[in-house]
Amino acid sequence: MPLYEYYCQHCNGIFEALRPMREASEPFPCPLCDRDGQRIMPTSFAAFTFREGYPRRIPDKGTYWHLGKEVKRPISGPARVGEHPELNPPRPPARKSRGEVEVERDKAQLRRKEGKKMLDSGVRPIKGSPTIR
Ligand SMILES: [Zn+2]
Repeated sequence: MPLYEYYCQHCNGIFEALRPMREASEPFPCPLCDRDGQRIMPTSFAAFTFREGYPRRIPDKGTYWHLGKEVKRPISGPARVGEHPELNPPRPPARKSRGEVEVERDKAQLRRKEGKKMLDSGVRPIKGSPTIR
């Protein structure tokens, strides 16, 4: 199958796709935002650059897209499904109920007890090992 170039207007990106020749002129979903990219004719070549493996048209604004919204950086690290740290700021931690506070206290007590047991038995705690939560 031949390789064709497509241009995504939404994220101003250029991408390539291997397609059968008869489908070449049909739009192809952009790998970054999943919107339809239009075929670029070999005659309409435009300058582009690469950013993080994806070709981008120059000038590259340096932004990314998340579900149709422009963001400054791609998601890195943990994020809730369908949310972006720039668009969905971290929620304030929910206030703990009295029950939860008691559970936390019990756990802390258990942790201390376990730690003491370990020391008494001569086992050295391993740094960075998972602790009881
Ligand atoms: Zn796109």
